[in-house]
Amino acid sequence: MPCDADHCIQVRGARVHNLKNISVDLPRNALVVFTGISGSGKSSLAFGTLFAESQRRYLDSVSPYARRLIDQVDEPDVDTIEGLPPAVALQQQRGTPSARSSVGSVTTISNGLRMLYSRAGRYPRGQKILYADSFSPNTPEGACPRCHGIGRVFEVTEKLLVPDDTKTIREQAVAAWPPAWQGQNLRDILVSLGHDIDKPWKKLPKKTRDWILFTDETPVVPVYTRSGLNDAGDSQQAATPRYMGTFTSARRYVLHSFATTQSHRTKKRVSQFMQISQCPDCDGKKLKQESLSVKFAGLDIGELSQLTLTELAVRLRDAANAKPSTSDLHREKAIVAQRIASDILARVETLTNLGLGYLSLQRSTPTLSPGELQRLRLATQLRSQLFGVVYVLDEPSAGLHPADTKALLGALDELKQSGNSLFVVEHDISVIQHADWIVDIGPQAGVHGGEVVYSGPLSGLRKVKESTTAKCLFSSKPKTKRELRQPTGWLKLQQIERNNLPGLDADFPLGVLTTVTGVSGSGKSSLVSQAVVELVGEALGKKKEVNAPEGEADLLEQEPETSTGGSIVAGMNHVRRLITVDQKPIGRTPRSNLATYTGLFDHVRKLFALTRKAKARRYDSGRFSFNVAKGRCPNCEGAGFVSVELLFMPSVYTPCPVCRGQRYNDATLEITYRDKNIAEVLDLTVESAHKFFADETPVLRALDALLHVGLGYLRLGQPATELSGGEAQRIKLASELQRAQRGDTLYVLDEPTTGLHPADVSMLMSQLNGLVEAGNTVIMVEHDMQVASGSDWIIDIGPGAGDKGGRIVAQGPPAKVAKSKHSRTAPFLLT
Ligand code: ADP
Ligand code: ADP
Ligand code: ZN
Ligand code: ZN
Repeated sequence: MPCDADHCIQVRGARVHNLKNISVDLPRNALVVFTGISGSGKSSLAFGTLFAESQRRYLDSVSPYARRLIDQVDEPDVDTIEGLPPAVALQQQRGTPSARSSVGSVTTISNGLRMLYSRAGRYPRGQKILYADSFSPNTPEGACPRCHGIGRVFEVTEKLLVPDDTKTIREQAVAAWPPAWQGQNLRDILVSLGHDIDKPWKKLPKKTRDWILFTDETPVVPVYTRSGLNDAGDSQQAATPRYMGTFTSARRYVLHSFATTQSHRTKKRVSQFMQISQCPDCDGKKLKQESLSVKFAGLDIGELSQLTLTELAVRLRDAANAKPSTSDLHREKAIVAQRIASDILARVETLTNLGLGYLSLQRSTPTLSPGELQRLRLATQLRSQLFGVVYVLDEPSAGLHPADTKALLGALDELKQSGNSLFVVEHDISVIQHADWIVDIGPQAGVHGGEVVYSGPLSGLRKVKESTTAKCLFSSKPKTKRELRQPTGWLKLQQIERNNLPGLDADFPLGVLTTVTGVSGSGKSSLVSQAVVELVGEALGKKKEVNAPEGEADLLEQEPETSTGGSIVAGMNHVRRLITVDQKPIGRTPRSNLATYTGLFDHVRKLFALTRKAKARRYDSGRFSFNVAKGRCPNCEGAGFVSVELLFMPSVYTPCPVCRGQRYNDATLEITYRDKNIAEVLDLTVESAHKFFADETPVLRALDALLHVGLGYLRLGQPATELSGGEAQRIKLASELQRAQRGDTLYVLDEPTTGLHPADVSMLMSQLNGLVEAGNTVIMVEHDMQVASGSDWIIDIGPGAGDKGGRIVAQGPPAKVAKSKHSRTAPFLLT
């Protein structure tokens, strides 16, 4: 394909991150796939250079105001880029998206539904037409007045407020009341009000109990007695009141304290006495009654949003195909309904085609996997009718079963056909094979990468000897016959109920490597990452982590705790520890990073404190922490950057002008260890740190483990917020690998190959095999067929997604599962 300036994007002299002053021509209106091992520089080229430059030009053109601010933001280090269209990035979400957003809002389908209900809904006789806003819980016109559009409310119950009803009031039966003198006052007031505080709580009349716990009255009464526990019996009545006291019911006290207290401890204490439950007025549908009385296809908008997208499509199809009769008085309305319904239907079908038909519109985005979220965004773009833009995507196949990948390729083709260019960073072989153009970056990671190994159509890659990608794609490795390991026991779970699992029985072999497979939405994560983790955790006596709520809204917006039904009936005697290695970020702020998470920074700080100069100045190891005031930069408080607010745009971070991104104050930076200061050490990659600390065993142990999971290219100080889910997961795995391996540990992983080149996958597999050889068990969810085929045992869930899945379709050694006629995984297994 000739690549002249009319048809191509020409990059000259790109030096972002590890890129070595590279020049490359990329065709427009084509599917360009960037390949190469992790850390080779694919993202640095696709996102760091091409997308960043396009975004900078765009901002430059919109407003002088933005330009002034954008000048402070890093410009990609590249000489020129010619022929670059505007770009849209569909990156995997790093960190957690807001709880308020849902499938409906991200895809904007909810807007369409509101229009549908407003214009074409069936209203009760006599009710006037509502505006579309009235069907949104986020507007005052729509929100349920009781729960303010959140769908959940706080509740206190007698059981919570009075945990032990055999106690008397004097014995502090009302546990929710404050413990100290304040609670004493409330009990004294009850005496003045004539209540018996020495009768067991359960013997008191219901009316009295209800009043004490729930009344909104706050009578003020004179208090004569002191009703402490020790004064029982001889509480002498003083002749004159000691003070005037105001009564507060337990409910008032709890809700009021929770809403107003500044003390974290009080908040935590009172939150034990509250429970969150569905709003009784709107049944959790978040809307006021008037809005819920409007129906479409027999359902209110809340019920419609609870349907799976597949079911929703069926209802909309009926409406879109209905023939309005000519005599119909409501003919106009019917036509409107038809038009809106067909429009929404088209968008819903884009989602179901991408294998997301098992989701519902009301599903909140934090419960989605990053891959699902990216596909939602992709589907939204498919309907946006943009053309002439470049879409830059990050591993869109993540979370997709090979059987679903076809639909993804179809979606990419569709974007291309409407006149767009696609730049995709991808490891999946079927996506690579579908590409019009390959840009292979490498040959290795970090400083050993950053060059264009090959740029051209796929067929030409075969001849490129130094390409790791070519080796993985084209060389058919002779199969070595593998000995399958025999289970040392069985972990047996029965009657598991969770999401779409309908009381499933599942047996997991112990002492071997098991992969759980199945199409997206079939129930793999529900079984492994949720049910197994919770039930085993419970059996080991682990308490569920409870986050102290920050505020009322925060608490209400959390997903309600769902727990797993079912039990473990055998095998726990072989499991002493449970380690889950998931893709959740290792920290939510840029303050946590690789070095702090793995603990290696503690050793490094000690080494700095032991230098002569540090000792002379009495700097301890705390001085070298950017979380402690004495050593860090006062301007950014050790963060290294400050955020710049842009009007109408997400805020951007820019290096701190005082410390120039170094995080520390000048005095701290004067201390060097082997000629590097602490900021320079944090800037080392794992690989170079391994040379730098060659004789420091405790530091090396952590670095070794990181190298073994293919993370040699990460910098020690790389903020947690810059890491992908896959990288975070491998850091967790590395932290586990550096610990002593005691055996009898159950490791649970969710798609550990995300972000990994096939060459890196082999490395990961040998690490996991090492864990099993040391007497542990590994259970993982995985779509990579290289991994599934290389495990000892496969459990295939399905056959379909959502309520069409949730069952075990096939299980056994890979060779056996490959022969199953019902398994959608079987045809892809490499045996
Ligand atoms: P890939 O996408 O191929 O996995 P990346 O482009 O993410 O690789 O990384 C290439 C190199 O650039 C790595 O050595 C990585 O550590 C480095 N790098 C990535 N992000 C940054 C950053 N924000 N600052 C400095 N170096 C970075
Ligand atoms: P897989 O891991 O195989 O992709 P999941 O276990 O994530 O599948 O999902 C199985 C089913 O359970 C799907 O229908 C999905 O929508 C539903 N589901 C999963 N997690 C949640 C959740 N947190 N809330 C509601 N439904 C969920
Ligand atoms: Zn409500
Ligand atoms: Zn600073």
